[in-house]
Amino acid sequence: MATLREAGRRLTPQRQAVLEALEQLDGRHPAAPQVAELVRRRQPMISEATVYKILSELVELGLLSAVDVHDGRLHYDLNTTPHAHAVCRSCGRIADVPVGGWPPARRAAERRPVPGDAGPLPAGFRLEAVELVLRGLCAGCARREAVAPEDGEGVARESAEATSS
Ligand SMILES: [Zn+2]
Repeated sequence: MATLREAGRRLTPQRQAVLEALEQLDGRHPAAPQVAELVRRRQPMISEATVYKILSELVELGLLSAVDVHDGRLHYDLNTTPHAHAVCRSCGRIADVPVGGWPPARRAAERRPVPGDAGPLPAGFRLEAVELVLRGLCAGCARREAVAPEDGEGVARESAEATSS
């Protein structure tokens, strides 16, 4: 992400360290503690509180988006373009999903309507963010749920927990 790197160069070393950690975790939508852990592994002088503060600052600067999938914590995403998130209800993994037709045009006249597309925004509405969460099971968890424990196929690792008590 060139713009982010350009901005990063102008930032303080601490902010740069946070951005580098975010780039390393890109696509994984880390929560603040995960980012702090990675930053502090390289630069123990940076406190956890500082990492948290920098994350908020980067969000305010528009270099980072904070994603709320209602699991009790914010996740951070270098992808600041409008997109949806598919969340696995079993393992909690978050994946990016491109969204066609979003954000909706400000006025119907701005583009030709496509069936199934989002309609125009309410008159005068100033769009600031698009948050769309798709819930379900990731491929791995869906496979595990589909296989009955008796089959013993692909559930060897999980069966230890299930058979206790
Ligand atoms: Zn995302």
